[in-house]
Amino acid sequence: MGFRKIVLVLVLFISTAFAQTSFSRELETVYPDAHALYLDVHQHPELSGHETETASKLSAKLKGLGYEVTDHVGRTGIVALLKNGSGPTIMLRTELDALPVEEKTGLPYASKVHAKDDAGHDVAVMHACGHDLHMAALLGTAEIMAKEKSTWHGTLILIGQPAEETISGAKWMIDDGLLTRFPKPDVIVALHVHNLAPAGIIGIAPGTYDTNADSLRVTIYGKGGHGSAPHTAIDPIVIAARTILALQTIPSREVKPGEMAVVTVGYVHAGNKNNIIPDTAELGLTVRTYKPDVRKQVLAAITRITKAETAAAGAPREPLIEHYESTDSVYNDPALAQHLKGVLEAAVGKSNVSIDEPITASEDFSYFVEQGIPGFYFSLGGANPAKFAEAKESGTTLPSNHSSLFAPDVEPALRAGITAEVAVLRNLLNVSPEELRKFSTSSK
Ligand SMILES: [Zn+2]
Ligand SMILES: [Zn+2]
Repeated sequence: MGFRKIVLVLVLFISTAFAQTSFSRELETVYPDAHALYLDVHQHPELSGHETETASKLSAKLKGLGYEVTDHVGRTGIVALLKNGSGPTIMLRTELDALPVEEKTGLPYASKVHAKDDAGHDVAVMHACGHDLHMAALLGTAEIMAKEKSTWHGTLILIGQPAEETISGAKWMIDDGLLTRFPKPDVIVALHVHNLAPAGIIGIAPGTYDTNADSLRVTIYGKGGHGSAPHTAIDPIVIAARTILALQTIPSREVKPGEMAVVTVGYVHAGNKNNIIPDTAELGLTVRTYKPDVRKQVLAAITRITKAETAAAGAPREPLIEHYESTDSVYNDPALAQHLKGVLEAAVGKSNVSIDEPITASEDFSYFVEQGIPGFYFSLGGANPAKFAEAKESGTTLPSNHSSLFAPDVEPALRAGITAEVAVLRNLLNVSPEELRKFSTSSK
């Protein structure tokens, strides 16, 4: 190696080391505020569409940092803007909502909150999906980005999205002018914490990140009668039972082996007394797929099988099949994901970044991508490393998101979340908008 090369390597090494120490200083400055918000929001969770206190807390903090904040975008959603000269526009999203779950973690800061759900029932409420950690990470990131404006240029938009758990908040915000009243972003970024990896591990899924989700309500019409005289009736419960079993042949017999398809009948409602054959039976289905053509195939098969089963039983009319909720899979442009993989490896260490298989959950982040905005949605390990190793050893898994025992290891996860978000935003806010427009939004 020549002298010049040695000098160059030394300079690179020193500047990287310097950048890292200066980043850890930045992180130390903002961490206490972020952690405090986590504890506050965790103890005061609010249900989807009712995140008023949560939104106003986050909004007040962001206003205090100098962001231009607009409240009530898509009901309880918030939009915070920080303009810093010309350059790209990058959006970072957090969710605001919690779940109707009773917290059983036994943590000193466990939620004791109860609220009325949309049906008027009293339910316990808990941040069982980690959205509290996402808000705290966004706040820490917001503070670093506001204090270190010399490290980037362009427009940073932070959004607090309501009602992710009901797959409605992204649509509410877009319908309320998220992309017309505010600058349209060149890329949108979000992360999600989970318990499938130790705290601090970043997971990237280039291409498909999660599933298409379709919710169906199927009403089967029979003919009611006395339980002792089935010959005078057409029993919708028997039709429902046959239909449920036949539907399982869609993933096992119709979809090509190796393709992802899930058909779950999550509830069956029929009858209210043992000696009465009811008039109707209702099934609630969730359908998950990765590929658009498999999704089409599965939905068509559900209709065909359900109609055929009712016809076979001589039902008085065709079943009613209502497709009442759906969301597309989240798609990460592979080139963008590859680009940001390098950025994240530099920020948290190569061994802390992994390539993930797509997951079988769903989320409405896909709604932003569908509007023509390339998205980068990545995962953040949240498990306590010792507990994670112990569980692995004994062949079990730690409580997953939505469990009453879900408890991320806050400190390392939150630090890694802020580190990753700042690295991604700083990188993207130094790329030209033209370069960013090369990234695409769809796998179709
Ligand atoms: Zn969730
Ligand atoms: Zn979630």
